[in-house]
Amino acid sequence: MAVTTKRVAIVGQGVMGLTCAARMLEQGYSVNIFSREEFTDTTSMSAGAYWWPHKTYPEERVSKWSKETYKEYAKSSLSIESGVHFERHRRFCIDPDDSAYARHLVDEWEEIDGHNYGISCCEAYLVVLPVIDVPIFMPYLKNHIESHGAEFHIKELESPAQLFPTFDLVINCSGVWAFHFVKDKEVFPIRGQIVKVSLTDKFHESTRIYQKEDTFTLILPRSNDIILGGTAQYDDWGRDSRSEDTDIILKRCRKLVPEISDCEVLGTAVGLRPGRKEVRLELELIAPNRPVIHNYGHGGGGYTVAWGCANEVTALANEYFSG
Ligand SMILES: Cc1cc2nc3c(=O)[nH]c(=O)nc-3n(C[C@H](O)[C@H](O)[C@H](O)COP(=O)(O)OP(=O)(O)OC[C@H]3O[C@@H](n4cnc5c(N)ncnc54)[C@H](O)[C@@H]3O)c2cc1C
Repeated sequence: MAVTTKRVAIVGQGVMGLTCAARMLEQGYSVNIFSREEFTDTTSMSAGAYWWPHKTYPEERVSKWSKETYKEYAKSSLSIESGVHFERHRRFCIDPDDSAYARHLVDEWEEIDGHNYGISCCEAYLVVLPVIDVPIFMPYLKNHIESHGAEFHIKELESPAQLFPTFDLVINCSGVWAFHFVKDKEVFPIRGQIVKVSLTDKFHESTRIYQKEDTFTLILPRSNDIILGGTAQYDDWGRDSRSEDTDIILKRCRKLVPEISDCEVLGTAVGLRPGRKEVRLELELIAPNRPVIHNYGHGGGGYTVAWGCANEVTALANEYFSG
């Protein structure tokens, strides 16, 4: 049965905060969303993004969340305004990849031979994946939530405790800033820089070379640009673009796909993926009648697990209030 009288504060308007807000509104909760920064400045806005649980653990829970999210994107892809569509994606693993199990979670995939593409790798496959065109998807989701009554506040909070007793429940979707917000020293940044270039008629496919380095090769065409990746720099809190990263990304991507060499460089973006040994998704009572549901630490796979995590957050909230 829908709960209609409980007031919920969600900390964060990245993809985790917004998907939780959508689910909680569906259940009849009143939702207020707090963010220390404008929505356009979140990590979530700097992502590609495509469905794949990069550096998101543990495998069993992530598989469940990823499958649920995949199904939700399949529904979203029926509406062009959502910014979600399915695309062929080639993945070449130069080093063993601990997220390779994800290909078994999708409807369509097949092994390919990397040597046919001039790439020496331990495994390679072609998968059909949801691509989430972030500059379209995130405003679409935010508008949807706003039109269903959520209120947004730009305010930096010191801790979940300050939101009680105004609210009955706090949902903590603070991303990498959980390091400060709930003083979780297990959270660490994985700095990601990407380069955006103009579209070309000569190349439409998405390709990723996986290797255990802090720079990798990704080419991801979107509706209005192509994302070139990227970096995965551990424990690096730097949010400014670096020209040396831009240079190496362009060099590697142009070498792999010469067809993009003439594309105009439109800009760069940097985001801090919330790294953690395991996602923290659990309910904590910080004091009697002071419940906080934590939902952070999704690494490089926040878009891949977002709806599954939001489903679990909502179930925890319903269970708490009905108990
Ligand atoms: C370059 C790059 C490429 C990526 N590609 C992919 C991909 O292809 N597929 C994929 O699935 N994932 C990808 N990711 C990962 C994905 O973007 C993240 O996992 C996801 O964005 C994390 O979302 P979040 O909502 O937890 O955090 P964020 O987007 O960082 O949002 C955190 C929110 O919490 C708020 N907040 C924090 N502390 C406070 C406070 N004290 N007071 C008030 N508000 C606070 C912030 O203001 C913000 O609104 C990529 C990331 C990067 C950087």
